[in-house]
Amino acid sequence: MSDASIRILDPTVANQIAAGEVVERPAAVIKELLENSLDAGATRVTIDFSRGGKALMVVEDDGKGMAPDEALLSLERHATSKIRLAADLDRIATFGFRGEALPSIASVARFTLQTRPAAAANGVEILVNGGKVIHRRDHGMAPGTRIEVANLFHPVPARLKFLKSDETEAAHIIRLVRLYAVAHAEVGFLLREDGRELFRSPGKAPLLERVREIWGKQVATELALMPVTERPGLRLSGLLGRPGVSRATRQDLVTVVNGRPVDSRTMAFALTESYHTLIPKGRYPLAFIFLEMDPAWVDVNVHPAKREVRFRDEAKVRGFIIESVLGALRASPGGGADPERVPLEPPSFSTAVIPSIPATMPPAAVELATASVPSAPLAPTPAPVASSAPLRLGWRLLARLREERAVFETPTGLAVLDLGAAHQRVLYEEILARFTAGRPVSQPLLVPLTLELDPLPAAVLKERQELLTAAGFEFEEYGRNFWRLAALPTWLEPADALVFVRDLLAEMARREGDFGRPALAYDALAKLAVARARRKGDALADGELLALAETLFRTAQPGTCPKGRRTYVEWSDADLGRRFG
Ligand code: ADP
Ligand code: MG
Repeated sequence: MSDASIRILDPTVANQIAAGEVVERPAAVIKELLENSLDAGATRVTIDFSRGGKALMVVEDDGKGMAPDEALLSLERHATSKIRLAADLDRIATFGFRGEALPSIASVARFTLQTRPAAAANGVEILVNGGKVIHRRDHGMAPGTRIEVANLFHPVPARLKFLKSDETEAAHIIRLVRLYAVAHAEVGFLLREDGRELFRSPGKAPLLERVREIWGKQVATELALMPVTERPGLRLSGLLGRPGVSRATRQDLVTVVNGRPVDSRTMAFALTESYHTLIPKGRYPLAFIFLEMDPAWVDVNVHPAKREVRFRDEAKVRGFIIESVLGALRASPGGGADPERVPLEPPSFSTAVIPSIPATMPPAAVELATASVPSAPLAPTPAPVASSAPLRLGWRLLARLREERAVFETPTGLAVLDLGAAHQRVLYEEILARFTAGRPVSQPLLVPLTLELDPLPAAVLKERQELLTAAGFEFEEYGRNFWRLAALPTWLEPADALVFVRDLLAEMARREGDFGRPALAYDALAKLAVARARRKGDALADGELLALAETLFRTAQPGTCPKGRRTYVEWSDADLGRRFG
């Protein structure tokens, strides 16, 4: 009668659909394979990849392997050796349990499984291409499992275009393997790209040493061991960042629950709260912490592609972490006991003198992409139009209010100016105007700065180098992940440059997509620059306060700071009159 009858999906198609959830990028494939190796009791795992995992990924382990019929079954959807009943979900100690990963991956790549249990004399090899079994034959090998995934997404070309550059995908793989290597002291990890060793986790070494090998020397110098703390059913151990050391993102805030690297808002909050006053507001501490608890108290049954974990009793976990970390920080030298010794303020770089700020009116940030670019040089000569017609506000300074604010008489009433917010707006538009004009004012450095970067920020830097050059930075690469910073925009102090660049790259990595559009990128860059500017209010002479107000009213949006806080409030004479009844 009708063609639109209901049908059961062809299994390959069903798997390809599931793959859309499980396998969003090469690193997600590695994650599934690694977790299977760990579940299989491996003591050594070797990971190889090339072209960001797009061309090839291989994970090889010495775990328990699979007999030939198990191997075939493992490629069927919902085939798992790990649970049988929904009630088992509460007791899960293994990583995988859905039985979805292998068939999903095999449906979207050229997939070779070689496996042998120790008890068997021989292994088996199964080749699957785009979900179709090509062959199955005996294969001589040592006990364990080797899975090769080639040409990821070739059977579903539409998905290929969602992949990022080789470098970015490689960076995601490296971060992922590092996380698992840090989480598993008992397993030796080896990670190679195109046959070249990226790192090898030292077997049975103390945690700090492992972090140094896996995460890098720099981070290791910023961490210290925390004493192990225990409560009934809970145990916390790990490394904590030294007071005063912070990051713009959670990049070095590693949280592991029952051996599983996880994202946990609760844990991140608890840690950040524990460092309250020890690091600047809005930044994250460094930490590698390991929480062990009854598996029944953690919900691991979350979306396969996400790492966010949920606790049955969030408040209890939060309280336990804060208590433990605060205890550790108080006990450590330079910790909470003596806040005077801790650098509380973020390093500031802003040296811009407010009255000299060019009086331009750049278009609102969102319109930048299409807006016409002012052709006049912005500095040191101010743009002609606005400055030749100085705005006379007619404000008169009455008083300073607790250093952060100033009270003015206006032609129509009374205004209170927030000096910090006003300064940020002015500085933001100055920086933005320079970007927009495509004329960064750059200062060469006498001695270039050296920057060692993790793979992800390094990949971001490579991809967005042009944008940064346009903003006045000059970078040269000289070796894998090593960069030389030869020139800076004038608004950035050399002493603050390295921290600023690290934060910027972290922000760019976090918002990958946005930074493809220069207008958004410049906006974010300017916001980041401004956020680091120390509040200028108390440093200003009375005469400069009025200049600040006047400059503020030449900006595109004088009413708010770049983050949306109000820069001033005003009461008209009529408002005031009403107040007096
Ligand atoms: P899950 O891990 O959710 O059970 P997978 O599709 O990832 O589902 O794996 C299916 C099954 O294949 C696993 O339950 C396990 O029995 C087996 N398996 C997968 N990888 C390995 C491995 N490296 N070593 C031994 N067995 C494995
Ligand atoms: Mg699995």
